[in-house]
Amino acid sequence: MFFALVCGIPCSDFFAQSISRVHIKSDQIEEGAVLALKRVAVRQCVGCGRRRPKNEMIRISKTKEGRIQVDPTGTGPGRGCYICYEEDCLMKSRKKGLIARALRAEIPDKFFDDVLANVKKRG
Ligand SMILES: [Zn+2]
Repeated sequence: MFFALVCGIPCSDFFAQSISRVHIKSDQIEEGAVLALKRVAVRQCVGCGRRRPKNEMIRISKTKEGRIQVDPTGTGPGRGCYICYEEDCLMKSRKKGLIARALRAEIPDKFFDDVLANVKKRG
């Protein structure tokens, strides 16, 4: 009993120290993980309806002047919609006028041609 007490104090000190060290470490790891995951915003594709991280999608936006453009930053002003980097999604939304509906604007054929060319280039 006596030995256990004598031994118990330094032992628990040692444990407390190592635990606090571990905690600091795991806090840092957690913070790093949170930063890495940082709530990747997910958006729905107007073409296929699948949800994906927005950085894997094309944002198409309408400027104040009513011009339709690809918004490479994904944060530009104006009404925007998202679509996958996929020919199928573009073709589908072109045929059904889904982007036009989402943006409440006419989408010029040339716009689709340009975006399609980019999607094909990207592979
Ligand atoms: Zn899609």
